[in-house]
Amino acid sequence: MTGEQLAGWIDESTSTVFFGGAGMSTESGIPDFRSAGGLYTIRHDVPYPAEYMLSHGCLVEHPGEFFDFYRTYLVHPEAKPNIGHRALAALERAGKISAIITQNIDGLHQEAGSRHVIELHGSIHRNRCVNCGSAHSLSVIMDTPGIPRCSCGGMVRPEVVLYEESLRSQDLDDAMTAISTADLLIVGGTSLNVYPAAALLRFFRGRHLVLINREDTGYDRAADLVIRGGLGETLSAVQHAIMVRGEK
Ligand code: NAD
Repeated sequence: MTGEQLAGWIDESTSTVFFGGAGMSTESGIPDFRSAGGLYTIRHDVPYPAEYMLSHGCLVEHPGEFFDFYRTYLVHPEAKPNIGHRALAALERAGKISAIITQNIDGLHQEAGSRHVIELHGSIHRNRCVNCGSAHSLSVIMDTPGIPRCSCGGMVRPEVVLYEESLRSQDLDDAMTAISTADLLIVGGTSLNVYPAAALLRFFRGRHLVLINREDTGYDRAADLVIRGGLGETLSAVQHAIMVRGEK
């Protein structure tokens, strides 16, 4: 029923934006941060908290430990897009989704075929030498033990936004424009605890705000519709309902 309502709103909307987080990729086998079994709740064999391991300070002060942790917990090369990613890509192809804003760094939306994706926290697939600026593939990070190095000798780091670092202003501008001009905003798989990404929701001026999440979030009361369920199942049901409506 709630999926039908969302399908109806998507059909009526002039601009629908999806804003997602780590919950989008748990069904692809990538743990989120804050759920049971997430990176912040499991025990790791490192002496520092996960927040520190993913900080700029750790990259600078303990680069060897940073890269070990990053390779082990943040990069999942075997992960494939799930039915939720594929549903969003199909909806974009059908002209029903205008943009995806993601806090994820896994690149799975693009792998599923989505084209207009704003990656607020960067991507594991973009890596750069801090010395000469040359671009490197993910394999340079994954296949080199210890600190990955460029041929110039500089450290190669992922272009992901670490704690203590700022989001790229172009990505923030693009996300603000997409959200402030959206008619329907669907927020899924994020605890909305990470700032400034979560604060972007305040720019929404459209008709309907929809939240899809397995757990409560601080924004539930502001939403016009809350769907308490899995993203894959929900988004594929919504996509199916829209396709069926289109055939009638
Ligand atoms: P979070 O862990 O704080 O919250 C995830 C939320 O998604 C939780 O509320 C959980 O209940 C919900 N959830 C989990 N699986 C779900 C599913 N299948 N269907 C519906 N809901 C589901 O994650 P966050 O808010 O995105 O913030 C964590 C930060 O770490 C972000 O920057 C995030 O992108 C990054 N991160 C990225 C990845 C990735 O790239 N895949 C993985 C872990 C963390």
